[in-house]
Amino acid sequence: MSGHIFLYGPSGSGKTTVGSILAEKLALPFLDLDAYIETICGESIPAVMAGRGREGFRELEAQALCACLDGRPQVVALGGGSLLREENRALAEALGQVVFLEASPRVLAQRLQADSHHRPLLAGGLVTSLDSLLKERQSHYDSFQLRVNAEGNPEAVAEEIQRSMGYYHLRAMGAPYDARVCANGLESCGDLLRQCGCEGPVLLVSDKQVAPLYADRVIESFNRAGYQAHLVVIPAGEEHKSVETLMRLWQACLEAGLERGSTLAALGGGVVSDLPGFAAATYMRGCNWVAFPTTLLSMVDASLGGKTGFDLPQGKNLVGAFYPPRLVLSDPQTLSTLPQRELRAGLAEVLKHGVIADPDLFVICAHGWEAVAANLPHIVRRAQAVKVSLIEADPYEKGPRAALNFGHTIGHAVELVSGYRLRHGEAVAIGMLVETRLAEKLGIAESGLAEEIRAALAGLGLPVEIPAGLPRADILRAVQADKKKSKGTVKFALPEKLGLVRTSIEIADLQQMLQILEE
Ligand code: NAD
Ligand code: MG
Repeated sequence: MSGHIFLYGPSGSGKTTVGSILAEKLALPFLDLDAYIETICGESIPAVMAGRGREGFRELEAQALCACLDGRPQVVALGGGSLLREENRALAEALGQVVFLEASPRVLAQRLQADSHHRPLLAGGLVTSLDSLLKERQSHYDSFQLRVNAEGNPEAVAEEIQRSMGYYHLRAMGAPYDARVCANGLESCGDLLRQCGCEGPVLLVSDKQVAPLYADRVIESFNRAGYQAHLVVIPAGEEHKSVETLMRLWQACLEAGLERGSTLAALGGGVVSDLPGFAAATYMRGCNWVAFPTTLLSMVDASLGGKTGFDLPQGKNLVGAFYPPRLVLSDPQTLSTLPQRELRAGLAEVLKHGVIADPDLFVICAHGWEAVAANLPHIVRRAQAVKVSLIEADPYEKGPRAALNFGHTIGHAVELVSGYRLRHGEAVAIGMLVETRLAEKLGIAESGLAEEIRAALAGLGLPVEIPAGLPRADILRAVQADKKKSKGTVKFALPEKLGLVRTSIEIADLQQMLQILEE
């Protein structure tokens, strides 16, 4: 996994325009290979081509590719035929990922119409030359795996590339960081730590379930990158998200000799990112921390957004801080060892992300458990996009981020009344369904939406009914208790239709809600 992102595709696919937008979004330098060649040759591409011929030009492309590839990762817009040479392709694929931009010949021709004089290989009748060029290169172009439809506007195409790569750059909290989804990412986490400027020593925090599975891999990668690394293992489970465990972490930081520039690395689920995140926020008034989430819930939710904290005996997450990590690295392979119940619970939050902002993601979830389980990396990348865009718009939970609370007002109450026997995601599944029924009753949601959500949840093996034995009145009381805490109003985030949610809805008639709970 090297850092470069190469955009490739025929003339008119938007490599340069999309490339510069993508580079800006990811805070990476941008390089346009053709512009680079024009600079070193001191003449335009058509002139270079006329003077040196096609082969001479390809030779220049090969040299340019080599010359621009040392140094930090960048977004590179390639020439439309620059990977025809095998050695160029091998070099690009070794040094980064090639993203192929796809567009139909009709769209390409429209775009090229405007500036055909800059495209020497398309001289003559534009449509005819384009057709023959595409035919000539078809098998070559078809052979690239990572493909993105490039017919939309460049901003949307750049976002689609981010979704298909699982690569985001968050900056709204003032201390920017990358969130990345990388196959085998744990093998190279040490290099990524270096790239984001974190210093050692590193204290890796993990729990008793996760450490035996993955801690060695991470420590080895840290050592290969030249870090002195220590491990502290905490007990697994929410009941240990406590000040006692925090005390152990602070002490372990001292024993490992961590200073302000040093780094805490969290390897595990949401418990194991909330706690070390808070330890990092407070140790020496703030040191670096990075998150390597290993549960689906943490990959798509807990590890993103810089909320850290711990529980008090009186309630969950009562003490905490907003303190962004320096890196969030998700390795979807770790999900292969996650117990199925945890995976399904995480899927409830994924489905929620789909309902509130990404109908396509909802549709993927609606294909049922087997399809979803076979497609987890894709799901993680897509679900992260939803959370990232909401927390970037509203890092400190003042407004739009409230959309993420869909299903949670009722969900939290159900979770509490179940005595935490239900996993958070299971309770949120029930909460989403009850709240959508409420939204339908109130005329906010399209009719039929609750049934659509119910069917999708059931297909994922998530609960769709409040378990018998959980008194509805207790659930209502728990909602009302929440209401007292938030100065007399419980605000719901309710869906209107797939992809659209309305926030800050106050429900005056809680009796009506009780009826819905009974249904
Ligand atoms: P968790 O951290 O308790 O992990 C669940 C269980 O799975 C644990 O027993 C853990 O040891 C095990 N596990 C984790 N990864 C594994 C793997 N790859 N293979 C095998 N076992 C594995 O729970 P969670 O559901 O990930 O997170 C819940 C926590 O996240 C809660 O404390 C919640 O408050 C918090 N949270 C925080 C935020 C936030 O914004 N900070 C958002 C949502 C949730
Ligand atoms: Mg949640």
